[in-house]
Amino acid sequence: MARSVADVVIVGGGTSGTYLAWRLSEAGIDCLVLEKEPLDMLGTRIGPFHMEEEAFERFGIPLPEGDELLHRLETITMWSPDHGVGIAAGLTTLDMDKPTFMRRLHAYAREAGAEILQEVEFTGLAREGGFPTGVTAKGSDGEFEVRCRLVVDASGIGGAVRTRLPASPWFENDPIADLDTLVVYMESWGGLEGEIGVDINSYLHFQGWYAPSYGDELIVGVGMPASPEAARNRQQAFAATLPFKGEAVTSTSGRVPYRRPPFSLVDNGLMVVGDAAFMNKPFNGEGVTSAFTACRIAADVAAEALGRDDLTREALWPYNERYFRDQGAKFAFLTAVMPAVVSLSPDEIDFLYTVPGIFTPEGTQALNLEYELKSDPAGALKSLPPLLKGIASGKLRLHSVANIVRMGMTAGAIKKLYEDYPGHPVDFGAWVEKAKHLWSKADRARHDYFGCLLREWA
Ligand SMILES: Cc1cc2nc3c(=O)[nH]c(=O)nc-3n(C[C@H](O)[C@H](O)[C@H](O)COP(=O)(O)OP(=O)(O)OC[C@H]3O[C@@H](n4cnc5c(N)ncnc54)[C@H](O)[C@@H]3O)c2cc1C
Repeated sequence: MARSVADVVIVGGGTSGTYLAWRLSEAGIDCLVLEKEPLDMLGTRIGPFHMEEEAFERFGIPLPEGDELLHRLETITMWSPDHGVGIAAGLTTLDMDKPTFMRRLHAYAREAGAEILQEVEFTGLAREGGFPTGVTAKGSDGEFEVRCRLVVDASGIGGAVRTRLPASPWFENDPIADLDTLVVYMESWGGLEGEIGVDINSYLHFQGWYAPSYGDELIVGVGMPASPEAARNRQQAFAATLPFKGEAVTSTSGRVPYRRPPFSLVDNGLMVVGDAAFMNKPFNGEGVTSAFTACRIAADVAAEALGRDDLTREALWPYNERYFRDQGAKFAFLTAVMPAVVSLSPDEIDFLYTVPGIFTPEGTQALNLEYELKSDPAGALKSLPPLLKGIASGKLRLHSVANIVRMGMTAGAIKKLYEDYPGHPVDFGAWVEKAKHLWSKADRARHDYFGCLLREWA
């Protein structure tokens, strides 16, 4: 018989919901996690996944050992489309078995006191006076109710809680649009022959990469807006450009969000984290550690609010403030500007790889660890003459430069707005109006580019 009361109900026992439950339980909060899948299935659709090594210490997670750790990868190499230039940056990434990692995370949450129910699906929210009073859920014994003070949506890209709420200016309830998603399609290759780069190898133009997988196999994957078929076509085209051959042993695909998060991550008695809040890194779609950052803030804020028995949106607001003014502002900038950079033609990207100071190891490290596009002023000065020559000779189209400058300015204004995220809900309405205006430009440009990609690869 399932229990009928908890302080917090977390919907979704993926990485975000489980990490949040662990943090809250350590703070002495009574947490119940509802997960619709059998726990042994979690992570099996993805298989191998990456986490930056430094994140383990930052998030208080012991390093993986034994079969969970597939490879310790020490570099990321960014390749020009013609393979003429490869820029390697030192960055230690752990390649891990996701199902084993999920089991370990569940064990930590349980040891700290959280209860995790498997094969139990959240079906609805009970509300009274604008506050949730509990949830309804369905398990093998039928439907049941759990009363609680706080509900957290950690249900992944579908946003099971968020999308069931009535429309409200505080908590956007629209489901994610196809054109705001990237389909990640990856194949695991065996029987490899040819010249294979070490560790992680990344290709801006195809939003593609290859990296070691289970045993001697290699993952060859791409990201592609909206369409699984187009993702597969794009992956085949990407694979044909690689300097080695292999046979696909297995393949898998899934969706990651590529859009701004909801303008607010809280309402009365409600919070949203992880893919449900579109918190993935805009430059590679990874979402595990970026959500852990949000979960840590959410756990601190929720524990304090529960301690005061004040679950109003005002009491939960510091989660918005602390998330959006830092990581949220950086991700908003990158979400707005990346399409203008990625949409350069392969020839233009090849040319930029020959310009000193554009693609650098320091730049790759700053992007992956600090989520910033960095260039030092002296380096930028050195790049200017060859860039101008490139424009004059047609290697870099003026239209492309103008597009990057225009989107860079919009992205800069968006970042500034998020750094000034309102400190109190009373100022939220005016802030949202400004944000909507800026995002309408960035979203239009991104959707135009995604539409072009779909026509190219359909
Ligand atoms: C192919 C692929 C490869 C990836 N590789 C990486 C990588 O290497 N590194 C990285 O950082 N990120 C990677 N990502 C992204 C990463 O997987 C996600 O960002 C991350 O899993 C998000 O975690 P989450 O807990 O927010 O959501 P999810 O992992 O989607 O978890 C949500 C959970 O909620 C459950 N749920 C949904 N609805 C309900 C309901 N109504 N009731 C109860 N439970 C419900 C789901 O069953 C699910 O278990 C990859 C994504 C894909 C598709």
